[in-house]
Amino acid sequence: VVDAERFSLCETCAGRQGDGAGFDLAEGSGCFICHGLTSSLASTERRIVREARRHQFETFSVGMILPAGVQEREDRLRSELRIRGRATIKSQLTGKIASFIQSELDKKVDRLHPDLTAVVDLATDTVNLTTKSIFVYGRYTKPRGLSQRRTVCERCNGRGCGACDGGYARTPSLEAVVDNRLVRLLGAQRTKFTWFGSEDPDSLVYPPGRPFVVEVKNPRKRKTPARLALRTGKGLAKISGLKVLKGRPSSIPSFTFETRAFIESETPVDPSALRSRRVKGTISVEYRNNKDKVVNKKVYRLRIRAKGKNMVAEIKLDGGLPVKRFVGGDSVYPSLSELLKTPLKCQRFDILRVWESGDLEFGKI
Ligand SMILES: [Zn+2]
Ligand SMILES: [Zn+2]
Repeated sequence: VVDAERFSLCETCAGRQGDGAGFDLAEGSGCFICHGLTSSLASTERRIVREARRHQFETFSVGMILPAGVQEREDRLRSELRIRGRATIKSQLTGKIASFIQSELDKKVDRLHPDLTAVVDLATDTVNLTTKSIFVYGRYTKPRGLSQRRTVCERCNGRGCGACDGGYARTPSLEAVVDNRLVRLLGAQRTKFTWFGSEDPDSLVYPPGRPFVVEVKNPRKRKTPARLALRTGKGLAKISGLKVLKGRPSSIPSFTFETRAFIESETPVDPSALRSRRVKGTISVEYRNNKDKVVNKKVYRLRIRAKGKNMVAEIKLDGGLPVKRFVGGDSVYPSLSELLKTPLKCQRFDILRVWESGDLEFGKI
């Protein structure tokens, strides 16, 4: 190629243009295409490896942002000299970095779903490492007086302000203490919970506890301990059965649960009358939910003790059927009030046990 000597290139950039093009070889910043980028790559590689060592990962990918003009100069050179060339500068440099990580840390490249993604910005000379979320399954027990979920800060409406904790009110909740521990333990950015139903703040949740799945975003570590004991200010919350799932669950199984409801009756309940109205077998109930949709639910077991106006009912029922409404009769037919033919009010309820009706499902990975 006659015109090739018009361009001075570094060895790396010349090598990319095909054999025997006959370029003038340049040192460092004298390279027409990269202005010396390729010669400073080694320190960037070492920086990435140093940062990557602080993460648990098995697979990774490398992305790159080039300074303005670099790709354009390579394109111009190739079109003027009518050469097709080999790899682009971007794919060559990311490939070099990837093989360096591979050999230093013994990890594999996965371009589609890597645990770790390193983005090298050669325009600003920065390196940014992020990781794929992990999804953790576990069960929690909860002391009385602690709400399940965080509440969005009213002052900033969740954007985050000086009075709150990243957009959430500082009042303790199970979600906040689990979030706090997992974020610190796994070096993560934040968490997102999926619940298998909920209960009231004044509900106790007994062992083995209610299941949940939590997405841990941008974690440095990808393994969790099996159990945690968390101080809440109201007593201990215990997390057990923690395990990292193989990916994002596509659906949460339906569940049934057993509750102990503390109920006040408008009129004293006669234990013998209770026995005569004893409800046997499964009861089908209709529940008009908050979206005004009627859903069919089942109550599988009812055991009631009464003393004067106070009753304690142990109820096994479908997930999604609100205990207080089933007792009192709000949007549920028939309710316990109707079954016992006296107005009832559920003061509070505890969660004795939760049964999942199937396994978590995962979409195609
Ligand atoms: Zn170059
Ligand atoms: Zn706020």
